[in-house]
Amino acid sequence: MDIKSKVVHGSKGYDPATGSISFPIYQSATFRHPGLNQTTGYDYSRLQNPTREELENTLAALENGKAGFAFTSGMAAITSMMELFKSGDHFMVTDDLYGGTYRLFEELLVKRGMTFTYVDTRDFSQIEKALKDETRAIFIESPSNPMMKVADIKAIADLAKSRGMLLIVDNTFLTPLYQRPLELGADVVVHSGTKYLGGHNDTLAGFLVMNSPELIERMKLIQKTTGASLPPFDSWLILRGIKTLSVRMQRQSENALAIAHWLKKHPLVDKVYYVGLPEHEGHDVSIKQAAGFGAMISFTVIEERLVERILGKVKLIAFAESLGGVESLITYPVLQTHAAIPKEIRDRIGVNERLLRLSVGIEDVQDLIGDLEQALRD
Ligand SMILES: *Cc1c(COP(=O)(O)O)cnc(C)c1O
Repeated sequence: MDIKSKVVHGSKGYDPATGSISFPIYQSATFRHPGLNQTTGYDYSRLQNPTREELENTLAALENGKAGFAFTSGMAAITSMMELFKSGDHFMVTDDLYGGTYRLFEELLVKRGMTFTYVDTRDFSQIEKALKDETRAIFIESPSNPMMKVADIKAIADLAKSRGMLLIVDNTFLTPLYQRPLELGADVVVHSGTKYLGGHNDTLAGFLVMNSPELIERMKLIQKTTGASLPPFDSWLILRGIKTLSVRMQRQSENALAIAHWLKKHPLVDKVYYVGLPEHEGHDVSIKQAAGFGAMISFTVIEERLVERILGKVKLIAFAESLGGVESLITYPVLQTHAAIPKEIRDRIGVNERLLRLSVGIEDVQDLIGDLEQALRD
């Protein structure tokens, strides 16, 4: 079945007991046992809940993995995943990375004796050089946030495999609709479900999807022990969001391509970073490994003072953190998503004071362009 049908119908897709087309919200903390040593398969909602299970199985089916795990946010998912590792373990990480992930690694996990090296994962030789005997995993974002760098997932997966390391891919920006890292050889897929999967800027959620039976067993233990599992109502909201993922992504990507072309021609715009532009340096790798380019654009304006003008004047586009929803949002990474990243790293990767990030929504594209046009005007 094509993934455009899979997103609509989920895993079970409906409630087999009643025929309910909308999967029910099992708003229950606990479940009755029929008798001693008997269970319905559900005991307590931190361990299993039918609504969350439907969502987890849906994510697994979409990513072509054996198991999915749903958490209260993307950061809860990444934090839980890092419980797979221990003191002394080293990680090779994309240098252009979601700020919250960097903060988790550098503020909390280094205190537990884990170490991290940040490299440009577009460059294969840099990756090879950064690997050490104690490297346990490679953690990449592709396309990266916010500079839209594209890493060759299959090449890195082959390298990780040959060295006995795990490859973890944060797939938030493209979703399984456009990119399925497990099929390219990755071991773990991470999502902030808050973004495209939920799609409506109304719920936080996070996911892990994996294939290895050993990792799945360890992850089940971690999820039930740490307890950051996604509640039933939030699970239902994400399930509902996923039903329209393919139409949303398609419209958002079309809008993004048109806006990227428009921005390129604007005299006050300096650089435009959008993977869908043929001149983007990651364009060809992206075509090889992904079925679409997504709807995230970063761009720099020619002078820093224009940033304040734009953020103050946009009307239809909201000046707000986050991305992926039906509403277009504009973000200032230096002060928002990437404030936790030290200036020297930000400067190296290109997150400067002139950079803005646009998450393109499903509004009419001419309205969006009109909004940007008036916001850039004096
Ligand atoms: C938002 C985001 C996260 C964190 O997810 P939350 O749901 O906000 O906790 C992780 N990775 C990427 C790429 C993100 O955009």
